[in-house]
Amino acid sequence: MTQDSSPDPQPPVSHAPLAGVIGWPIAHSRSPLLHGHWLQRYGLAGHYIPIPVRPENLAEVLRTLPRMGFVGVNVTIPHKEAVLQIADIVTDRAALIGAANTLIFREDGKIHADNTDGYGFIANLTQNAPDWCPDRGAAAVIGAGGAARAVVASLLESGVPELRITNRTKLRADQIKNEFGAKVVVYDWAQAGNMLEGATTVVNATSMGMTGKPALRVPLDALSPGTLVTDLVYTPLMTDFLLEAQSRGCQVVDGLGMLLHQAAPGFERWFGRRPEVDEALRQAVL
Ligand code: NAP
Repeated sequence: MTQDSSPDPQPPVSHAPLAGVIGWPIAHSRSPLLHGHWLQRYGLAGHYIPIPVRPENLAEVLRTLPRMGFVGVNVTIPHKEAVLQIADIVTDRAALIGAANTLIFREDGKIHADNTDGYGFIANLTQNAPDWCPDRGAAAVIGAGGAARAVVASLLESGVPELRITNRTKLRADQIKNEFGAKVVVYDWAQAGNMLEGATTVVNATSMGMTGKPALRVPLDALSPGTLVTDLVYTPLMTDFLLEAQSRGCQVVDGLGMLLHQAAPGFERWFGRRPEVDEALRQAVL
């Protein structure tokens, strides 16, 4: 009797798509929670994991992940700008914003970089303030960092007639005006309160008001009742800025919905189903 010398059969290869979020540090990210909620809810095969990546390893990791079965990743601090240099294809909006938060590893080996923050920002307002009309009046954006650039791009695309912006470091607001065009009007930081006069949409796009950081100190006396006021900060959910705006009769929308909505396009590309942003998801992430 001859002995079969062939190796033991390998366990079947799992074709469940893998995705994740890269950042440094990454433990704080809520993305695994929300993608995990969707995977479970829709009964989809797939995994989404946090991946700590040091800046010096970014390029190598991005070339290795597709070989390991990853179909894409979300990108967070500090890699959002650097991934644009590594990606093979960069969408126009990611290039305009200067940062990407969603990468797709294509079957042809190319890395496709997109920015869905602006989409998430608008989808949050549309869902939670269905009567909001961006073209009804000027929008005022406080802050000029990476998230503010996505907000500015999406508000202009949505048809705001004028986009006012102020930032502690004025140079960053001036850069936004230079890149985004004539509808952008820059206000001095000391004039932030005046910028709100007659605005119908007001956004805090700074990190001020976040748990552990000082509150945003912009006088809100010029806010008109009925103005749509939103904050990108979502810890706490209701910032002092939103509470004061609400007490002045404004319609307020918190920033958590933006986080939830910006994740949807990536999930659809990686796992094949457009996910819903609803109260169950909010509760899971909270
Ligand atoms: P960033 O690029 O670091 O920009 C930070 C912004 O905050 C800048 O405008 C900065 O002004 C301003 N700022 C920081 N400390 C300040 C202070 N002490 N006084 C006045 N201004 C100050 O950060 P980012 O990526 O744009 O994120 C901004 C915030 O949005 C963060 O809280 C982030 O968590 C949040 N965010 C939320 C979502 C969401 O889905 N809800 C998505 C993206 C970001 P200078 O330019 O003068 O430093």
